[in-house]
Amino acid sequence: MDAATITSWMREIDVAVRAERDHLVQLDAAIGDGDHGTNMVRGFEAVVQALGADAGTLVSTVGGASGPLWGSALRSGGRVLGEQMTFEGNQLVEVLSAALASVKDLGTAAVGDKTMVDALEPAVDTLRSRLHDGVALDQALDAAAAAAEAGMRSTVPLQARKGRASYLGERSVGHQDPGATSTALILRALQKAATKGA
Ligand SMILES: [Mg+2]
Repeated sequence: MDAATITSWMREIDVAVRAERDHLVQLDAAIGDGDHGTNMVRGFEAVVQALGADAGTLVSTVGGASGPLWGSALRSGGRVLGEQMTFEGNQLVEVLSAALASVKDLGTAAVGDKTMVDALEPAVDTLRSRLHDGVALDQALDAAAAAAEAGMRSTVPLQARKGRASYLGERSVGHQDPGATSTALILRALQKAATKGA
């Protein structure tokens, strides 16, 4: 993988959040303020336009909680790669681990709080363990994306403990978390980008 993989990943995210914008809006309207789909589309549209620029674009363009969270995630992940021209699966695990750590730190969220962490953490853990077991990168990424999707679905019965949805208390139960949903899209986009580039 190389810089082109990252570029392709950002383009795949842009396509995915655009396709799922209305769904993300509906999910966020149920337990938040309904802006998540619009925010993610605006943010990644700006990222694609500014490809080669930095995660600051995302922070300033995506509204809501997701802008700072994804901005910080991508910046932390990017620091792992530095100026490296190419990278392997194990370094991708480090990138995603750094991204996860920054999200958990900034959002003070853990698995089970009904946030994007419910999708991101199992994806990172799955990618790490599959690669450790010697599974090929494309299959490991497919398993990681599937873990993010399972994590996304796991948020439905949970009561939100972080973010705006937590104000709803028990009324947040029965709704899929929008941040976990867009995170699953982002992990699936990574799998598509890496597979294309292979
Ligand atoms: Mg919102």
